[in-house]
Amino acid sequence: MGIYENAKRILSELPEGVELVTAAKTRTADEIKEAIRAGVKIIGENYLQEAERVFPQIGRVVKWHFIGAIQKRKVKKIVELFDVIETLGSEEIAFEIEKRATQQNKDIPVLIEINSGKEPQKSGIFPEDTVNFVEKIHNLTHLHIVGLMTMGPLVEDPEDLRPYFRLTRELFETVREKNIPNVKMRYLSMGMSASYKIAIEEGANIVRIGTLIFGPRKYK
Ligand SMILES: *Cc1c(COP(=O)(O)O)cnc(C)c1O
Repeated sequence: MGIYENAKRILSELPEGVELVTAAKTRTADEIKEAIRAGVKIIGENYLQEAERVFPQIGRVVKWHFIGAIQKRKVKKIVELFDVIETLGSEEIAFEIEKRATQQNKDIPVLIEINSGKEPQKSGIFPEDTVNFVEKIHNLTHLHIVGLMTMGPLVEDPEDLRPYFRLTRELFETVREKNIPNVKMRYLSMGMSASYKIAIEEGANIVRIGTLIFGPRKYK
């Protein structure tokens, strides 16, 4: 099956209210365009340089979500290019996003990345620190918290991700119930090719899918 058919099938199978982020790392602009022809509305990129390479050939006919690790020196361009940042994981980066967004007079929606497996080598906020983190940055004027995102640990059986998805869903509810000003808990981004069905069962309304649309990656 080709990219077009794969994307069509997934789009038609997703329950109403669940949005597809097409994870496009390592893919060419032509491959991404084929997914867009099938109806894909959101492209996710992990690396600024890759996004800059394909963006001129695609433009703003889709929304661009940043889903990778954020380096401070790249924030200015990430804020310029992307519509949503899904991977906010530190105060330092939050303040840098605010600074750059203010300079660009741009409002930028962000999801907080939760390190739901509490893995020391991974980025993201530990579950128990989430409320505190939101309270520290909620009153920024150009950065707007709109939800949570998680990857979960690397596991053999995607079913083993369920507890991490559930934990992140519970955090999502906890933050939402606090009704913190300027915080709109609207998006819960969880699940990839192997795990998106489980993630949806656990409350995800954004799923990030690459391999199932484009086929196996050749590198990275
Ligand atoms: C690569 C990637 C995905 C998609 O992974 P697949 O297994 O190819 O579907 C989703 N989210 C993030 C953050 C990624 O880096």
